[in-house]
Amino acid sequence: MAIQILSREKKSKKVDFSQFLNGVPARDYVFQSAPYEQQIREAAQLLERADAVLIGAGAGLSTAAGLNYGGKRFTDNFREFIEKYGSAYMTDMYSAGFYPFPSEEAKWGYWSKHAWLNRVEPSAMPLYQTVYELVKEKPHFVLTTNVDHQFWKAGFADENIFATQGDYGEIQCARGCHDKVYDGTGLFHRMNLARKDCLVPTELVPRCPVCGGKMAMHLRCDQYFVEDEHWNEAAARYGAFLKEHKTDKVVPLELGVGFNTPTIIRFPFEQMVRENRDWALIRLNLDEAVVPESFGSRAVGINDDIARSLEDIRREAGAENLSIEKAGEKDEE
Ligand SMILES: [Zn+2]
Repeated sequence: MAIQILSREKKSKKVDFSQFLNGVPARDYVFQSAPYEQQIREAAQLLERADAVLIGAGAGLSTAAGLNYGGKRFTDNFREFIEKYGSAYMTDMYSAGFYPFPSEEAKWGYWSKHAWLNRVEPSAMPLYQTVYELVKEKPHFVLTTNVDHQFWKAGFADENIFATQGDYGEIQCARGCHDKVYDGTGLFHRMNLARKDCLVPTELVPRCPVCGGKMAMHLRCDQYFVEDEHWNEAAARYGAFLKEHKTDKVVPLELGVGFNTPTIIRFPFEQMVRENRDWALIRLNLDEAVVPESFGSRAVGINDDIARSLEDIRREAGAENLSIEKAGEKDEE
């Protein structure tokens, strides 16, 4: 009996997520005044000189990549939901997810479509592939609050990704009665084919295999979010990456992280740059690229379309590689 308990303890190494969080914003935010082209050059140089890159990605990256939750992409794909539930509630995919669906058939009718459109059907978006191209030659790690699986699709290795808030491709017990998540992609496919009048047939509604209760999307939206073994392993690897590279030249490359949930990426990244003199922050954001003034040249905050800035940084980094190669060739001659 004692042996069993010991082995179970060894297997489930729970990681305390709060150790990675920080709720304290900087007091000296500024929009940097340097011209765009200069910022692009500085960002490219920081990446060139980095020993390791720590990517932090939020909703703004996926929006810039084309996985837009509103506008025509929403109205084109969710017309029948807007007609059924009303345009006052069905304004975009973010708000629609909070609609109080009256039944499990209605809930899964919506979520199977949402998950299909944002997680299952899209292949790797070019912008995510650009991120991969930028960092693939260096030690890197991805911390993301996005749940659309794009980092995996773009080529990042599972061992280098920690998606803290779940995944649209997975489902869990709605009460989190056991620490396991289940692949939902096959189910969503069947639901998509069978959906009528925004509802899925009752026989497709999933039930918890342990308690028999309702299932839910594997998304952190309440206290029942399941942190399964894979989640805990990813959290541990994130901690190990930070420890391993603490004294290296690390560039936190923050992409599209706003002020909705700044405690997971934005504030902790700032704290780490503050504490490690050799770290330098690159922050790309459409309109919230403020950086702490006290970081001086150890921060580049580019307030622009992320797709444009990333592409320009890659071009600049490529040009720099080229000039280094040319210089090398000359030396050999
Ligand atoms: Zn259950």
